[in-house]
Amino acid sequence: MGGTCPVCNKEVDQLTFSSVIDGVVYQFCCKRCQRSFTAEPRKFINCCEDSTDR
Ligand SMILES: [Zn+2]
Repeated sequence: MGGTCPVCNKEVDQLTFSSVIDGVVYQFCCKRCQRSFTAEPRKFINCCEDSTDR
């Protein structure tokens, strides 16, 4: 169990700060990371889907 904070790449053991984006649960190490992530999820999710750059 546990995960990694997608904002700062820290290991997270608790589900104290978590958000569900597009059906996926993301865990954060702190509230600040959670807020910045939910504000702009695409900034932190490096997915293959978003290819509007090129
Ligand atoms: Zn974090």
